[in-house]
Order: sequence, then C-alpha cells, then structure tokens
Amino acid sequence: MRHPFKALIQHAKQHGYAVPAINVSNYETMMGVFSAASEKASPVIVQVATIQLTAQKMTWPEFMALIELAERRYPEVLYALHLDHATTISMCEEAIAQGFDSVMFDASAKPLQDNINETQQLRHKYPHLSIEAEVGALGAEEGQHHTTHTVTYTQPEDAIHFAKQVDVQGLAVAIGNAHGFYKGEPDLQFDVLKTIHDAIPEVPLVLHGATGLSPEMIRACIQLGMHKVNFFTRCDYAFTQAFCDTIKQGKYMMFAQQAGQKAFQEEAQTVMEICLSEGKAWV
Ligand SMILES: [Zn+2]
Repeated sequence: MRHPFKALIQHAKQHGYAVPAINVSNYETMMGVFSAASEKASPVIVQVATIQLTAQKMTWPEFMALIELAERRYPEVLYALHLDHATTISMCEEAIAQGFDSVMFDASAKPLQDNINETQQLRHKYPHLSIEAEVGALGAEEGQHHTTHTVTYTQPEDAIHFAKQVDVQGLAVAIGNAHGFYKGEPDLQFDVLKTIHDAIPEVPLVLHGATGLSPEMIRACIQLGMHKVNFFTRCDYAFTQAFCDTIKQGKYMMFAQQAGQKAFQEEAQTVMEICLSEGKAWV
C-alpha cells in the first residue's frame, strides 16, 4: 500500500536504517522492485526520472497504470512514489498531477542562491509536497553505467545554509559519491557528512550514486544521517547482464526478460539488506 514519502523517511530515521529508493520504468523493473519488497518485508521508495519515461516513450498515465498493477499484485508492499532528478518546476508538476506527493527538485547545477530561490518557489506553491533537494552537484551525467565526471564535495556551510532557508524533507549531498560505476576506489569524506548532519540533524540526508559503494560505506552513511539511498545503476546492470546472457544462450526474448526481472529483483533484495530495511515494513 502506498504511504507518504515523509512517513517512510521518518520511520527509517527513528529506527536507524535507510529506505532504498530504486528507479523503475517498465513492467519488469516495476515487478522486480515490488516482489523484492514483498519478499524482504522492506519499505521501498519507487522512483522514476523523466529521462526514463522519455527514453521509453511512456506517458505518465501509462506509468501510473503500471504502479496500480503492481499494487494490486503486491498489496502488502509498503511504498512511496517519488520523482527523481527533476530540473524544472514544470517537470515536478507533471508528477504532482499524477498524485505524486514527493519530488526531487534538482537545481544543484545552478548557483546556491538560485537553487534556494527556485526550491522556495516550489515550496510556496505546494506547501504539503515532500521535497528532496540537492546541494553540491553530483554530476549531471546520468543514463550511463560508468561515471564520466569528476567527483565533487558539497561545502558543508552551503548545505547547512540551504536547509535553514528552505523546508525540505530530504537533502542530497555530495561526499565523493557519484552516479554510475566508479572509475577507481570511491573516496567518501565522512567528515563532510558528519559536519552537515551535526548542524542539521532534523533533515534526512540522501545518498545518490550508491552503486559501487561497499555495504560498510553505505552503513556508515546511514549512521551519519542518510536515510534514503538511491540505487539505479546496479539494478539496471543486473537486469542487462542477465538479459544479454540469456540471449547469448540462443533463447527467446521472453526468457531473457524473465531472467532480467529475476536478476533485478535479487539485486533489489541485496540493497534492502545493505540498507537494513529488511523486515521494517510496519504495516
Ligand atoms: Zn541521483
């Protein structure tokens, strides 16, 4: 059953785990996430980025129909719906019109004051919306398995200033994490995270680019206030690999899709274990 984003994050914050946020965009990935959450009794944030819908030529009503199908099949799953990486207010409004109660509004590529102003505009327009913002760009390059940009770090004072100016329910910060597979060993600056968390402990922090981080690194981030962890690449890659392997065996596409879905589900279950969210679905 669907729950408010805020309720899932707050429960995770109170109970010392992170809600895994997994990107979906078609039947196989949707069912993969719901079956994993059912299997693990884990709360989950089902998220989609506009780029995923565009790439698949899928309309918003079609996406919502998939959600309804998954919910009918897995009524026990506790999930929230979230829009990932929206860079304009109109992108957010498309999702809000479909009943989304939370969005990531990512103006992190802009100067800090513009990021604050634009996020404030969204807040004023939608006072009850859950907003995840980002301070300190993680690199805009998405849609590829491998990181192609330089790793950056959020200035703690920027994140603290931002959170004091705008009421947000999640704040993504860059501490050496990056989207996609890492080029080398990731170098996470936990002192940056600690400084931010100590100054604004009431704001749940968000970890993007968790693919390629060890379970220990992710758990250290959870300890330091990150209660939503995004997984895209590793689940996507698990699907792709299983799909290709099955095709290479000379099998029909339907078997490759089935193998891809199973691999996606297994990867989702693994990230639920890493996030310590297994068994935490409270309703
Ligand atoms: Zn991201």
